[in-house]
Amino acid sequence: MFGFTLERVDLSTVSCNLVHMTATSLSSSQVTDSTASGTVLHGVPVVTGVAYAPVIRPGTLPKVDVGALPDIAEADRPAEKERFGAAAATVATRLRERAAHATGAASEVLAATATLAQDRGWLGAAEKRISDGAPAVRAVTGAIDQFVDMFTKLGGLMAERVTDLRDIRDRVIAELDGLPEPGVPLPDEPSVLCAEDLAPADTAGLDPSLIVALATTLGGPTSHTAIIARQLGIPCVVAVAGLDDVPAGATVLVDGTRGTVTVTPDEAEALAAVDDAARVAAAAAGWTGPGATADGHQVAVLANVQDGAAARAARETPAEGVGLFRTELCFLNTDAEPTVDEQAQIYGEVLEAFAGHKVVIRTLDAGSDKPLKFAGHPDEANPALGVRGIRIAENNPGLLANQLDAIAAAAERTGQQPWVMAPMIATAVEAQNFAEQVRSRGLTPGVMIEVPAAALLADRILEHVDFLSIGTNDLAQYTMAADRMSADLATLTDPWQPAVVALVAMAVRAGAAAGKPVGVCGEAAADPLLACVLTGLGVTSLSAAAAAVQGVGAKLAQVTLEQCRDAADAVLATASAAEARAAALEVLG
Ligand code: PEP
Ligand code: MG
Repeated sequence: MFGFTLERVDLSTVSCNLVHMTATSLSSSQVTDSTASGTVLHGVPVVTGVAYAPVIRPGTLPKVDVGALPDIAEADRPAEKERFGAAAATVATRLRERAAHATGAASEVLAATATLAQDRGWLGAAEKRISDGAPAVRAVTGAIDQFVDMFTKLGGLMAERVTDLRDIRDRVIAELDGLPEPGVPLPDEPSVLCAEDLAPADTAGLDPSLIVALATTLGGPTSHTAIIARQLGIPCVVAVAGLDDVPAGATVLVDGTRGTVTVTPDEAEALAAVDDAARVAAAAAGWTGPGATADGHQVAVLANVQDGAAARAARETPAEGVGLFRTELCFLNTDAEPTVDEQAQIYGEVLEAFAGHKVVIRTLDAGSDKPLKFAGHPDEANPALGVRGIRIAENNPGLLANQLDAIAAAAERTGQQPWVMAPMIATAVEAQNFAEQVRSRGLTPGVMIEVPAAALLADRILEHVDFLSIGTNDLAQYTMAADRMSADLATLTDPWQPAVVALVAMAVRAGAAAGKPVGVCGEAAADPLLACVLTGLGVTSLSAAAAAVQGVGAKLAQVTLEQCRDAADAVLATASAAEARAAALEVLG
């Protein structure tokens, strides 16, 4: 959902970030009998499409009680350290070689994992254990577990890198023990890859003609599984309760639109569902924009980007502009605040990529799952409810002022007129202060609606700003009081929750009354069906990951505004996310 880049995580700096501790539960949900024929397992849909094929599962290492392995004699420890170093280097080299042969995100994922395999943080921790007498296998397990623990406590994006660390551990141990590398077996027929979670090195470089869908028990919408599935364009569902019980060889129907995995379904029905999905995909590939319903009601379809490269890639799609430029993602690994000139350069790249088109730049949404080293985050027990987004400007006004100066400079240099919006606005006063600063630089101010309070008082906020952009990811998190990164709570943070849709409707009504545009830039806009519902509510633009743009535009082009409105009314009358989806499907097909 976020479209995060696969940033390198420097283990040696992680302990400094422990101030952002969040408990993240990664345990799988429990289901009694999920293997009976026709059982429908539910998860979180990540990539649309339908596939029907037998299940394969990645290989795992045999379980070894590492605690029982005897200590190494002092004289043998230097040699053991060398053996360990060589194994880690071999694993990193193999990953780098695979990175060189892969392209796009797959290559990035493999290169990032190779870098992590050679990170001084965990290598040093393992070497220290060997110096203290641990055999290499025990040292690897202990050192990685130490960082896994730390990442899990950090929560959010860091917790999602835990799978990468465990993958490196297993590969290094296999290398030390002379075992075949663990990972995805090469299937001899098209298959659905099911796993508890998938490591980047498992998923990167998968052949989409052989792996036709992905389903995992864990994982969030920003996990590597999700990122790679989007790149491969194969259906993907994550956080599927009960999936662990489905054995390799069982035939399943994965529906990446509904977020379901049906175990040994009726074959004729399954094949019909696959055909229908293929027709939808073909229609999407032929959509060239601009965004409009079948009867000509215009809704701009825009792209979410995180830097110049992503903006240039989005320009290759029919996206009509940028609806959300997440600036904080440019600086996740930056130690010191970038200068105004440095920032202006980066923002200018995005403006240039969409010269002559609408670009909405969001000021730094630092904090919670996206801490920035230079933002001076306070030590908080609950950072998602803490000083994040616009709230950072309270104690650190210079950060916002510099960023706005940089945006103004980039606008001047490129001759573009970007809109600028603030994240995490909760009150009309915050919106007013922000708007004054933006206007004083000749820019157009708006705010994100991500906090229920802002949706409820959208009319008063609109007295100060020129547009609203609804962030359904956080709006769902805060409306449902459910951590958006938690697999266990994924049903609650589903943007189809009628309570979330009701708040969207409220903000849209306020926009219509004020005659000001209201867009959606959260993941809700990437779901073609929900995008139609949002259109029916009256949103004026939909901004989604570049990969989702055509699917959204194509679906919109197939339905009338009246159908969208009927679907919106039907959804608003439901009592659950599942009912809401079903009601919309009924009207929109
Ligand atoms: C959102 O919350 O919906 C949003 C677009 O912002 P982010 O996902 O970056 O928090
Ligand atoms: Mg948000």
